[in-house]
Amino acid sequence: MVIVLFGKPGAGKGTQAPRLAEALGVPILATGDVLRAALREGTPLGLEAKSYMERGALVPDAVILGIVKETLGTEQFARGAVLDGVVRTVPQAEGLERALGELGRTLGAVLVFEIDDAEIVQRISGRLVCDKTQQPFTGYEPGAKCPECPDGTLVRRKDDEPEAVRTRLDVYRAQTFPVLDWYRAHGATVRTIDAVGDVEEVTARALGALGIDGRQSAA
Ligand code: AMP
Repeated sequence: MVIVLFGKPGAGKGTQAPRLAEALGVPILATGDVLRAALREGTPLGLEAKSYMERGALVPDAVILGIVKETLGTEQFARGAVLDGVVRTVPQAEGLERALGELGRTLGAVLVFEIDDAEIVQRISGRLVCDKTQQPFTGYEPGAKCPECPDGTLVRRKDDEPEAVRTRLDVYRAQTFPVLDWYRAHGATVRTIDAVGDVEEVTARALGALGIDGRQSAA
């Protein structure tokens, strides 16, 4: 089953992806994580993506579709995937559709995480990551020692700075939100859930929207 997690930056897709992936028994493809890893390693992909990512703009569709096609074609992804952070433009939706068609697969559902901008700004302004492991933390000041690793320091992601967050929300409205109309017009299953609440609660809503009983699948 291939599921697209859809929603504004900071809606909680990255928190829910591992929980949903476990329940569905499929791996995650998070394009943001792939690009951040490439950036850390200084690969050509990372160098190409760097300036777009740091200002909160979208990386070109051809780059994203290259990652998507390559990943979905691997053995590990043969049973499906939870897609986190892709699809973000109509050309990406079209490209994913083509890639799935070539692999003889179909899209299971688009799961939309709904949340207000005000809540997003509050969430993102409190989010820091360890500079060694990239694990996210809240409730700390920038520069604090990482609570989980010996020489990590908590820092704000460049694209979590207020200016970049505003750009990311503008980009979402202009380029990503219209993708939902594309999916609806193409007869895809689109399910919307309230993304505000406890992590467990949101997972249960998401699984419910996909028609899966979370208690059974976790057992
Ligand atoms: P994320 O972690 O999903 O918020 O992604 C972080 C950044 O990576 C985004 O702000 C974009 O610059 C880039 N990115 C990740 N996924 C995509 C995508 N599907 N299309 C374009 N840019 C992307």
